[in-house]
Amino acid sequence: MEDDAGSFETMVDAVRAFHQKHDFKNTGGEDLTYRIALMTEELGEISACVTKGQSRQRLAEECADLFILLIGTAIAADFDLRQAFWEKMRRLNGRTSRMINGRIRVSEFK
Ligand SMILES: [Mg+2]
Repeated sequence: MEDDAGSFETMVDAVRAFHQKHDFKNTGGEDLTYRIALMTEELGEISACVTKGQSRQRLAEECADLFILLIGTAIAADFDLRQAFWEKMRRLNGRTSRMINGRIRVSEFK
């Protein structure tokens, strides 16, 4: 593992370096519509891990794929994902939960 691998900024820097290595900015790699397609593809791979009973290691890899794409989307769209994360966590922590069809749901329940 990288030195300081636990730092979110280190992770963002690694994804930014990956984008620069392949010149994503000038080759369509930061096009948001394309990125949505890629994230959907990875979400499908995560789903297949569950529905096909694949290993926890495979599930972790597919979740990492999606997380890397999310970080890259924040880079492409120029927003601070760390700040957005903490703002949203604060809001989520203020919400209530309900049981719906045997599963918990935390929402605003408008
Ligand atoms: Mg994948």
